Amino acid sequence: MTTPCIITVAITGSLPQKSDNPAVPITVAEQVESTHAAFEAGATLVHAHVRNDDGTPSSSPERFARLMEGVRRHCPGMIVQLSTGGRSGTGRERGGMIPLKPEMCSLSTGSCNFPTRIYENSPELVDWLASEMLAHGVKPEVEAFDLSMIFKAVEMERARRIRGPLHVQFVMGVKNAMPADRAAFEFFVATLKRLAPDATWTGAGIGRDQITLNRWSLELGGHCRTGLEDNVRLDRTTLAPSNAALVARIVDIAGEYGRRPATVAEARAILGLPAVA
Ligand code: ZN
Repeated sequence: MTTPCIITVAITGSLPQKSDNPAVPITVAEQVESTHAAFEAGATLVHAHVRNDDGTPSSSPERFARLMEGVRRHCPGMIVQLSTGGRSGTGRERGGMIPLKPEMCSLSTGSCNFPTRIYENSPELVDWLASEMLAHGVKPEVEAFDLSMIFKAVEMERARRIRGPLHVQFVMGVKNAMPADRAAFEFFVATLKRLAPDATWTGAGIGRDQITLNRWSLELGGHCRTGLEDNVRLDRTTLAPSNAALVARIVDIAGEYGRRPATVAEARAILGLPAVA
């Protein structure tokens, strides 16, 4: 029996991409509608940033609250994960929405280079974000952009500074960070299993690497992330018409690996989150 696959849909990133693909949802109403369609297509976890209506990045807890409320109303049981990364503000602003108590928040456990800047996560900020999550009963999804971030996450979980069992996302294909390298990916998976046997994991690929990481994750027993935050195209010449279309792409190929999408109840059980009431 194989583990059902939790499909995460990352609906909207923090970088203005509206001009690249008009399907990227920007307003809260667009985000809720896009999430609902992705949920119907098979996604059980939504990862979200918020934007101002003009498309610029926002860190407004009020916007996050409206998004959560809309998703909870239209997508019963879907797991809400709010981003503390990207350009969602600077410093502690990035954690201003944690008191809203979403089921999960993303947590990067180290710094690395991004395409045009440093993705800065100082030890002090990582500790503060983690302590806020602990205080508000929020489970982190660790964003591992390289190997050291996996070790850091394990150390924090062992010290009970983040809630276990660990859930780690391996991110590949960000320019200037880790490329999508199969041997390195297998080593990430093996290292996590060795250090934290109860951990669960997701693979995320950026741009054309999205489908590659989807396939590797299905094959190796992990979970999948897709969505317009990471990739706005179906192939070199075709823009993805929606977040739902990217979710459907995983649903369509899961069977090739003997996998199927998790239900909401299964996704919650796998991640150790409370069952739907
Ligand atoms: Zn994100």
